[in-house]
Amino acid sequence: MTLADAVRTEVERYADRNPSSAERHERAAKSMPGGNTRSILHFEPFPLAFERGEDAWLWSLDGDRYADFLGEYTAGLYGHSQAVILDAVRDALGRGLSFGSVNDLEPRLAELVCGRFPGIDLVRFTNSGTEANLMALALAVATTGRRRILVFRGGYHGGVLTFGDGPSPVTVPHEWVLADYDDVDGTRALIREHATQLAAVLIEPMLGSGGCVPASDELLAMLREETTACGALLVFDEVMTSRLAPGGLQSVVGVRPDLTTLGKYLGGGLSFGAFGGRADLMAAYDPSRPGALFHAGTFNNNVLTMSAGIAGLEQVLTDDVLDAVNERGDRLRAALDAVAAPAGLHVSGRGSLMTIHPAPHPIIASKPLSDDQVAVKELVFFGLVNRGFWLARRGMITVSIPTTDAMCDGLVAAFDDVVATYF
Ligand code: PMP
Repeated sequence: MTLADAVRTEVERYADRNPSSAERHERAAKSMPGGNTRSILHFEPFPLAFERGEDAWLWSLDGDRYADFLGEYTAGLYGHSQAVILDAVRDALGRGLSFGSVNDLEPRLAELVCGRFPGIDLVRFTNSGTEANLMALALAVATTGRRRILVFRGGYHGGVLTFGDGPSPVTVPHEWVLADYDDVDGTRALIREHATQLAAVLIEPMLGSGGCVPASDELLAMLREETTACGALLVFDEVMTSRLAPGGLQSVVGVRPDLTTLGKYLGGGLSFGAFGGRADLMAAYDPSRPGALFHAGTFNNNVLTMSAGIAGLEQVLTDDVLDAVNERGDRLRAALDAVAAPAGLHVSGRGSLMTIHPAPHPIIASKPLSDDQVAVKELVFFGLVNRGFWLARRGMITVSIPTTDAMCDGLVAAFDDVVATYF
């Protein structure tokens, strides 16, 4: 069977299994462009729609159960029904929404976040990781008086901060300098070339959407050295990677950024973002200061997110629990890679975050794929979905707190079946 035939077989099976999702898609397209309000969720022939989740399981509109290995692109670390978090949200609901003023929740969550991440003395909350990055970059530009920002090809910092080979058409118009994640010397040269105009270097210490590719220790150490030397701020986007250790990936790699951005699971599964860092820098947002920078957001301190975030960090996410999730992830990645390697594929990542690549090595998302590699990605995605496993179409997999060893074994067996059937 050719690769194209194999993909066709799995896509047809997918379409046959999910008539309700197909109907929903047709209806959605009448009121939203392409039936969609979050582009990443679209795929042909139509996206899979879910109606319910529990622990790390999801049920589709057609009533099939899926093991959730997407975990809402890392925001779903607690799973769909963590009792402590649901109770905290119910309790908050009972006391009323949207006070239009400060409440006693945001300082509690702020203390928890500042106490957790070495690079964060002071923090501010947003509604998304995208906003957190926008505000961190605004701070860098305002405090340095410079306009250029160095980012990496394949980096993802939000819908309006997306970088393939260059900025996407909807990326905000900062003066971007594009570097390669796997080129320490080239990046050093770029920083030196733009030294006097560089406001910040923004980096994910492991590319998340870009393929779960960890940065080398040399790259991160070099960035710390060179940004300090030229007076630019080093900003770690830990929206995804903060879950890789209790103090974030920054605590593991031993590099302290000037600013850190956060999001995803830290809001307990509700809309969330945060940016924080050195007290002297964050002080620019102190509204009692003359000329302070303005940071707005109706829902920045919304009581549901604050309550869910506090409950999660205070009562659920102990260091032991987080370490266990990441150890389970390491075991899963090793087991998947043992299936992948003989078939000429590779599974990259760290801890609870990983990506299946259609080649024997990691491919950063900005690099072009051959037609065969595109087909292999499709085949792995539809093959696993048809076998009851939900993952990102780009091959990204996450392990959440309620993910069990049996679920991981099931995923490895399904991947083995896909590989044995088609490769
Ligand atoms: N930064 C990184 C590293 C991300 O992975 C994401 C989301 N996938 C974002 C920023 C944007 O976060 P949000 O979707 O909450 O705006």
